[in-house]
Amino acid sequence: MKNANDFPVKSTVSAEDAARVKGLGFLRDKNTPDCFNGRVITRNGKITADESIAIAEAARRFGSGEVAMTSRLTVEIQKVPFNNIAPLCEFLAAHGLETGGTGPKVRPIVSCKGTTCVFGLIDTFALSREIHERFYKGYHDVKLPHKFKIGVGGCPNNCVKPDLNDVGIIGQRVVKVDYDKCRGCKKCAIEEACPIKAAKLSGDKITVDKEECNNCGRCVKKCPFGAFEEYTNGCRMYIGGRWGKKTARGIPLSKVFTDKEEVLEVLERAICFFRDNGIPGERFADTIARIGFENVEKALLG
Ligand code: SF4
Ligand code: SF4
Ligand code: SF4
Repeated sequence: MKNANDFPVKSTVSAEDAARVKGLGFLRDKNTPDCFNGRVITRNGKITADESIAIAEAARRFGSGEVAMTSRLTVEIQKVPFNNIAPLCEFLAAHGLETGGTGPKVRPIVSCKGTTCVFGLIDTFALSREIHERFYKGYHDVKLPHKFKIGVGGCPNNCVKPDLNDVGIIGQRVVKVDYDKCRGCKKCAIEEACPIKAAKLSGDKITVDKEECNNCGRCVKKCPFGAFEEYTNGCRMYIGGRWGKKTARGIPLSKVFTDKEEVLEVLERAICFFRDNGIPGERFADTIARIGFENVEKALLG
């Protein structure tokens, strides 16, 4: 398939300047000699009406008037001429916004709408916002061996594919089954509620396959005889996921975390572990494969 854009237009911006503004979140528009697309960071994928108006106004004043959503929840202002980049950044800063999200560092956090979603088990917007402040902003000047992506999902439905990130966090509801209360009903409400059939009647008792169960919590309080009443909310952390030229599914750390501070601590240890042990150019998945998951897990869990 051929089109007019098969080959990039020759750039009139020097390679040094292009590299400098790339670090600020401006990526070259190959169809133009001097325009860039500027990534506005949305912190956790949620922006206010005022911020939305400011972004639209910035696109109108400094770009082509168009914006494009990126797969990692940033908003790209399109076709910003090189000379407009500095005034655009100033305008955004005056509205509490910034561009960025490139380079070998912690990348913008991707969050699902678990805070409001009926299946959400954790407050994904709040957690992502905290991760944004502490690690996207807090580690902004920390150079890593490669990019480091963090995804936060509210439940095992995995809408934002957290386990394909360098670190993925997934909301969990761990049910504590009181097997003594099971009466072996003819039609078991739990069997019906379990979307992945991890809960099954075996003889006259319910059984839950712990290997299969993904802690979605949909069975909680569904048993009319109170066998599935107690539960704990928390999250699982997956490390070493990636998607792109090479793919890898993150591997879950062995415990379910119930304390948010512990999640943040382990996340910080993961970033520092990658900084200290990664070879330049390799993703966290490669570091884990080289050093061994068990050893990395031991270091992260202290
Ligand atoms: S992952 Fe779960 S909580 Fe998040 S949007 Fe999807 S269904 Fe909702
Ligand atoms: S788990 Fe509850 S609904 Fe299912 S068989 Fe046992 S008592 Fe009945
Ligand atoms: S937590 Fe989810 S997967 Fe596990 S038994 Fe309950 S409904 Fe099934």
